[in-house]
Amino acid sequence: MDKVNILGVRVDKYTIEEAADKIIGYMQNGERRKCVYTPNSEIIMMAYKDKSFCDVLNRADILSADGIGVVYASKILRNPIKSRAAGFDIACASLEKMAKLNMSVYLFGAKPGVAAAAGEKIEKVYPGVKIAGIADGYFDEEKEKKIIEDINEKKPDMLFVCLGAPKQELWINKHKDELEFSVCMGIGGSLDVFAGTAKRAPMFFQKLGIEWLYRLIKTPSRIGRMMVLPVFGFTVLFKGKKYAQE
Ligand code: UDP
Repeated sequence: MDKVNILGVRVDKYTIEEAADKIIGYMQNGERRKCVYTPNSEIIMMAYKDKSFCDVLNRADILSADGIGVVYASKILRNPIKSRAAGFDIACASLEKMAKLNMSVYLFGAKPGVAAAAGEKIEKVYPGVKIAGIADGYFDEEKEKKIIEDINEKKPDMLFVCLGAPKQELWINKHKDELEFSVCMGIGGSLDVFAGTAKRAPMFFQKLGIEWLYRLIKTPSRIGRMMVLPVFGFTVLFKGKKYAQE
């Protein structure tokens, strides 16, 4: 089986490379409006409690496992995902391939100034990638209209939407049919990581699957958000089987 149903969310079992290859394939085949979301345990719990959000996620073309909790859940459900395929990592692997093909990316989200800094970094690290446009993630209706017009003028191969979950998935779902792009990804705080305003956990934490612990140490106020993790574990244990068989 190439997917695992975790509490109603049908997660793909792609590795980072497989997801990036699929994304580049969409672009090379001239496909349009393909959506990539990368749910973690917190997002799956949101979807478990909100059927309409769950439907939004399941409408994605690629739904990869961003978070070790999702990988563990797949193992509990005896339909294991090999490894975590975090949104940021898929984005990097895609940019590497896009660089060789001179493809373009539009950066939308994060605080003013962050997308521009992320763009400079991306141009440096992935020479060949064109920055089609940038827009920060704080907008009213009027500004949103202009952002949509700008995206449609630039027609990027890739559109990164970085508004945090579930805002980015809901925004993409609402607007994608009026937008011109090949592939879009909802990738949370990734622009902050590209820009250097936020840091990824050191490899040691990533390898052990405890990136969440690093983020908790760095930002103790995340404790509230993290309390959802044990709840997710118990919900998968006690309710997961029913969904996994669907
Ligand atoms: N953000 C935004 N607009 C909003 C709310 C959030 O652009 O209205 C940005 C925020 O500046 C940050 C990202 O969305 O860059 C969310 O990052 P977070 O680490 O919370 O997301 P996660 O990766 O955990 O989903």
